[in-house]
Amino acid sequence: MSDLKLTTRAEDFSEWYNQLVLRAELADYAPVRGCMIVRPYGWALWENITAALDQRFKATGHVNAAFPLLIPRSFIEKEKSHVAGFSPELAVVTHGGGEKLEEPLVIRPTSETIIGHAYAKWIQSYRDLPVLINQWNSVVRWELRTRLFLRTLEFFWQEGHTAHATAEEGEAETRQMLDVYTDFAMREAAIPVIPGRKSDAEKFAGADITYSLEAMMADGKALQFCTSHNLGQNFAKAFEIRYLDKTGVLQYCWTTSWGLSTRTVGAIIMVHGDDQGLILPPRLAPHQLVIVPIFKTDEEKTTVLETAHRLRKELVSAGIRVKMDEREGTSPGFKFNDWEMRGVPLRMELGPKDVAKGTVVLARRDRPGKEGKSFVPQEGIAATVAAMLEEIQKALFDRALAFREANTADPANYDEFKAAVEKGFAFSWWCGGTDCEAKIKEETKATMRCIPLDQTLGTGRSTAGGTGKCVYCGQPAMEKAIFAKAY
Ligand SMILES: [Zn+2]
Repeated sequence: MSDLKLTTRAEDFSEWYNQLVLRAELADYAPVRGCMIVRPYGWALWENITAALDQRFKATGHVNAAFPLLIPRSFIEKEKSHVAGFSPELAVVTHGGGEKLEEPLVIRPTSETIIGHAYAKWIQSYRDLPVLINQWNSVVRWELRTRLFLRTLEFFWQEGHTAHATAEEGEAETRQMLDVYTDFAMREAAIPVIPGRKSDAEKFAGADITYSLEAMMADGKALQFCTSHNLGQNFAKAFEIRYLDKTGVLQYCWTTSWGLSTRTVGAIIMVHGDDQGLILPPRLAPHQLVIVPIFKTDEEKTTVLETAHRLRKELVSAGIRVKMDEREGTSPGFKFNDWEMRGVPLRMELGPKDVAKGTVVLARRDRPGKEGKSFVPQEGIAATVAAMLEEIQKALFDRALAFREANTADPANYDEFKAAVEKGFAFSWWCGGTDCEAKIKEETKATMRCIPLDQTLGTGRSTAGGTGKCVYCGQPAMEKAIFAKAY
């Protein structure tokens, strides 16, 4: 790690982000442009994300499987809007084993088609339904403009794919998974998200309805946190996914798909980080607490390390993820800065005086300086730390929510709208017209992020069920939508 200061967020948010990803050793650039090497610290964060989600998927009856990386090109072409949406981003394999292939293969950009093919074989009767499968994998989309974690050529994610007997069950599944993601975002990532419906222009290629979670980053831009698609019978018809119903009639299935990717890591960085570096939510942080032992003489070293290891053991048995920083030849001050930059939620400082007094110093990452420091007894340290981690988790969420609320405007007219999307979200009446949406995008670069399911945005300020005038054309509007510039 270098001693150089990070670019501040105010100076250049995008440069701050890039430097931080590299310096915190989350990820690195790869030899192929647009690909990313996820380093161990970044992968540990992703592993905690996957664990928290996987547990929720299994609790709602889903199972994991693995489908192939290579898909016959003809599969992608079977669903019309799917091929139109994905064609420009496909990576195609034309040769194998030194020979030109009879049929080119695509590297999966997503797996609806190959999974649809398998489901058509596996599903015969209503007794086979529902099918609730998820897979953890990576996919490739040939993106032109890439950023580490936010948009990379290959990225890691999970994709859930389900098949159901009725339209109602398909819609219920799509909404259930949006709820699962919402719970994950709020509780684990400490990110206040807005669940909503995408416009026709923004929905997934091949979906009837796309739902997403949208989050505000600390520069006021939006990031799509994840998506959940109701695919209707589009893929079922393209791939002949059918079942015999109870009366012996052959019916098409109703399918869904839903995914969350390594973009989430980018969201965590951009929602919570500050000018010193990352601030990781305790529930996902690879290290929840770092112990920095402080000593000068060999004698001090012995007693300090003895206590440090005893405390570490106590914390680890309580299920707390602890890092002991015993690096030699680096000063405690350097270590403090280093772990601050890497976003460890709590730091424990332990010197000879603390050992003598039976205390330790705890420093909160979310409150820099004296304000975040406290002297606590070594006795009962695990309970003290666990409680403080919970406080930090909540404080991060509250701060992010307050920021979002402060930067979400309810514009009365198009001029106010234009000003609003320069600094954050515009929550505006929209007639639902694709023309207005396209013109807004052209004139302001803001896109329609979602139509929030809760039209009060959780504030209780009721506009729900009302009507207004479209912020662009002035025609009657039934719903309000979030518009923002987006990652
Ligand atoms: Zn309009």
